Amino acid sequence: MKTSDTSPKGLPSGVRPRTQLVHGGTSRSQNDETSEALYMTSGYVYGSAEEAEAAFATDGLRYVYSRFANPTVSMFERRLAEYEGAPRCWATSSGMSAVFAALMCQVRAGDRVVAPRALFGSCLHIIKNLLPLYGVEAVLVDGADLGQWREALSRPTRAVFIESPSNPMLELVDLQAVADLAHAAGALVIVDNVFATPVLQRPLTLGADVVVYSATKHIDGQGRSLGGAILADEKFGELLGPFLRHTGPALSPFNAWLLLKGLETLELRVAAQVANAEQVARFLEGHRAVRRVVYPGLESHPQAALARRQMSGGGTLVAFEIAGGKAEAFRAMNALRVIRISNNLGDAKSLITHPATSTHAKVSDEDKAKVGIGPASLRLSVGLEDPRDLIDDLERALAAA
Ligand SMILES: *Cc1c(COP(=O)(O)O)cnc(C)c1O
Repeated sequence: MKTSDTSPKGLPSGVRPRTQLVHGGTSRSQNDETSEALYMTSGYVYGSAEEAEAAFATDGLRYVYSRFANPTVSMFERRLAEYEGAPRCWATSSGMSAVFAALMCQVRAGDRVVAPRALFGSCLHIIKNLLPLYGVEAVLVDGADLGQWREALSRPTRAVFIESPSNPMLELVDLQAVADLAHAAGALVIVDNVFATPVLQRPLTLGADVVVYSATKHIDGQGRSLGGAILADEKFGELLGPFLRHTGPALSPFNAWLLLKGLETLELRVAAQVANAEQVARFLEGHRAVRRVVYPGLESHPQAALARRQMSGGGTLVAFEIAGGKAEAFRAMNALRVIRISNNLGDAKSLITHPATSTHAKVSDEDKAKVGIGPASLRLSVGLEDPRDLIDDLERALAAA
């Protein structure tokens, strides 16, 4: 739905990103509210039968049904699109519905899709298990190995799906290099940018065609709501728009309203969480009970140079492996008192999970081993607490492990 900013004075052109996050996309009602209005409605009424007829004849010019478009959802879409520098944004009910729609609206039986093996569990399920049911060939590669990408993309391909950094082991993919190979193979490049956030990485400027988000994570940032988003151009929207309209993974207006508020503080939260994550990663790296720390902002990350090139910070997630096995990992988690056990991430609260038995429980042991998820691997989503309390908490946990 295209509606312009109807506030009396629009934002001056050229305002900077942090200003866009606070004001972008707002359209005020006649009540001139400061906080964006929550249009908690599924339908819209017409003054006459003729008006209803005209609404359907001039599709997209006014709101007709909230599965198609809703004013609060539109504000969220415009604000995120402006910030990302994308022509359009389509909001969805969750990150997974964004991933599913972005892929399914494009692929046809007989197509092939290439993706790295290191993916969020549900993304891996869609690509590895669902796409083949519809006659789409799924090819998985080692995402850090450009040779494997080159080989896989030596044949015509419909789409490449990338997650960088990956969940949970924070493996990176060289977005520009893979986008070049993908385009030569005729493929669209879809990037799941959840872990980097739009604050730290802009895939569209690195050759990607489509960016998807789970807005549930950093965009909401306070563990309140599910949501998702797809950012792309109008051409992509020719297939995506009707797919969303007719299959219905619409974002609730209430969640869109929460996510609009989340965007206002996104840059500040992510910057503070990255600063905390750096301190926590350094502390863990120096601890004798920790076997390995994986953090894109540390020099010890195998792709540290790539991280510096394509991200403007190391991110808010730290993966680490403690000395020992599952028992030691569980003992450490159970001794934490500030950091909470949760498979969610990107929250103001620091959250820790044991991927092998939670987010990746349904992934086979063989596939887990291939991406480096072991019995003692932990994934820490660093929040907004005082970093000294996080370090004290981890010290306590490691002493108990
Ligand atoms: C959480 C997550 C998703 C799925 O998002 P939901 O909002 O939970 O549906 C997809 N990709 C990544 C990388 C995620 O972390």
